[in-house]
Amino acid sequence: MRPAKKRSFPDTRPPVAKYCSVVFPLSTRQVFSYQTGEFSGTIKIGQRVSVPFGRRESIGFIVELSDRLPDVPNLKTVSRLIDAQPLVSDKVLTLAKWMADYYCAPLGEVLRFVLTASVRPPKREPVAEEVFYQGILTGVAQQVVTPEQKKVLDDLKILLTASEKRTVLLQGVAASGKTEIYLQLAAFAADAGGQALILVPEVVLVPQTEEWARERFGNRVAVLHGRLTPAEHYRLLCKAKEGKVSVLLGTRSALFASLPDLRLIVLDEEFDRSYKETRTPRYHARDVAIKRGEIEGALVVLGSATPSLEVYQAAKEGRYAYFSLKERIVKNLSFPEIHISDLRLSGTVAQKRRRPIISSTLRALLEERLLKGEQSIIFINRRGHSTYLFCEDCGYLFACPECEVTLVYHHTTGELYCHYCGYRKDQPPDCPACNRSRLGRSGVGTQLVEKELNRFFPDNRILRLDSDALNRKEGLDSVLAFRDGKYQIMVGTQLVTKGHHFPLVTLVAVLGSDVLLNLPDFRAAERSFQLLCQSAGRAGRNLPNAKVYIQTYYPDHYVFSSLPGFKFEEFYEKELFFRKEAGYPPFGYLANILFTGKREETVLRKSGEWAELANRMSGEMEIEVLGPAACFHKKMRRSYRRHLILKSAKPGRIQEFLRSLPDKQIFDKGVTIDIDPVDLF
Ligand SMILES: [Zn+2]
Ligand SMILES: [Zn+2]
Repeated sequence: MRPAKKRSFPDTRPPVAKYCSVVFPLSTRQVFSYQTGEFSGTIKIGQRVSVPFGRRESIGFIVELSDRLPDVPNLKTVSRLIDAQPLVSDKVLTLAKWMADYYCAPLGEVLRFVLTASVRPPKREPVAEEVFYQGILTGVAQQVVTPEQKKVLDDLKILLTASEKRTVLLQGVAASGKTEIYLQLAAFAADAGGQALILVPEVVLVPQTEEWARERFGNRVAVLHGRLTPAEHYRLLCKAKEGKVSVLLGTRSALFASLPDLRLIVLDEEFDRSYKETRTPRYHARDVAIKRGEIEGALVVLGSATPSLEVYQAAKEGRYAYFSLKERIVKNLSFPEIHISDLRLSGTVAQKRRRPIISSTLRALLEERLLKGEQSIIFINRRGHSTYLFCEDCGYLFACPECEVTLVYHHTTGELYCHYCGYRKDQPPDCPACNRSRLGRSGVGTQLVEKELNRFFPDNRILRLDSDALNRKEGLDSVLAFRDGKYQIMVGTQLVTKGHHFPLVTLVAVLGSDVLLNLPDFRAAERSFQLLCQSAGRAGRNLPNAKVYIQTYYPDHYVFSSLPGFKFEEFYEKELFFRKEAGYPPFGYLANILFTGKREETVLRKSGEWAELANRMSGEMEIEVLGPAACFHKKMRRSYRRHLILKSAKPGRIQEFLRSLPDKQIFDKGVTIDIDPVDLF
């Protein structure tokens, strides 16, 4: 007898399923079995159901259907189907299962998260987050590409149609036109009947983006941003699911939208820290995007001027395809000149204490720009006025009672703020320790720089951009006013460095960048380098003779020495060398196990128990155990914090160890598991 010809159905589910497996958004890895009863003919994977659970009814997700009787006594029956259609596609469900496994999170919770992100609209985010993504927003009128762009685009189109997809690193210097490549590639995918997903960092896209994107894609583009009403958000995602959207633009949560024929995923500024989710499941959008690309057979393009070390190394080893854009779109426009100002040179301690906030060199550079009608940006890492308030008599330092961090003085309100928990109080006239009233301030914040600039240049308009300023209603409009030349100088925090396109800016000054370099984090150098390059990228995007002025106490550090001339390779090779020596990513894998609690003894005990267990199994599991130790922020919001770092040279070993632990231990309320952490505080 001839073997039956193998038939392939697009859907291999049995037409009638008697049993189903259900997960709940609970701290458990357990899957529960039910009879499908009257729904056996209609029930589908990805639907939500109401089922008896313990003594109550609970809502769970169907993750599997079967005709085989599960080996469970007293099987109960599904009471109700919640959704008429599955809420997630099979592919998104596969992705969720991978996430649960990789990030050691309960599948039920991952699914709840994915559904919240992709189906139910997110809560409206505060205006502070509305850093509209000007990299995409402006400078995008370009439709004609340079020869360099065309070459890259042609090669990417070939990769997009290839049956074997590869992850691509597209490294492009500032103003080299990466955005245009994303858009033309998305159009190419759309013309072939597929969809493209374009992700940008933490920002919420302003309606202007949509307006502009519509010019090219008509109403086949959907932009997910914080100004949508819940109903609008839901409607867009339904449209996307039905294949009526060709290009979906959004932040990391757009990654979970169901699209019928996804062909391209773009992650712009892939190194941006906002791609890492800070709640369970603590996923990294870059890694999930790569996984989704694999599941969907879509091309994944990671764009960046300064790639993360992980991506850089993968490209170097040939695991990712590599393309670069070395020229800027504006013809013959040279790169800004980098000026590193050595703070060590400047005199005695007493002189240093009196050091002006704006040095004479910087002041001259600013004046030059004002005369020419050009603009300047000053970037400083701290908001507020002064970052410390202390007693000059007894040394008392004003700190947050909940967090053990110093309070920051804001002169706009005359209050002291905790930037971690929001605690605030009026600045007291006297020292609470010695009752004397000689209170000193130190540490420079954005408000102080703004005040100084106003003193030097009273006839010019100075704009301050930080989350305090953005929280005011007009904050958003003032940035657009800056772009249009209505302000001459902008001073701000990190917000000023992100992807913006300000054509009139020819000077960027970076003050206090050493703060970042001094953080106890193995990525400190990488983060500093990326931030400095990103800041520098704001200068001279349209006009010649731009300058970048950077103050530091460590001019010899390779972060700074590789900046003039943008010697990227020099920086990356040095940094890779140190990472390799220490076994840190990309040459090793990490997990941060965080222990928190109101009672210090409990936190100490738990972290101790975990360390003992991990040490006992470290040989067998090939993991290294660092700690436990107090976190850099050892107390936050009245909660004590300790952590344990697990390190392994081999992929998957840390997860294997964690999987061997009981639910009770890894899903303990006071324990947070962070796989591939982006910070170790
Ligand atoms: Zn005192
Ligand atoms: Zn606090």
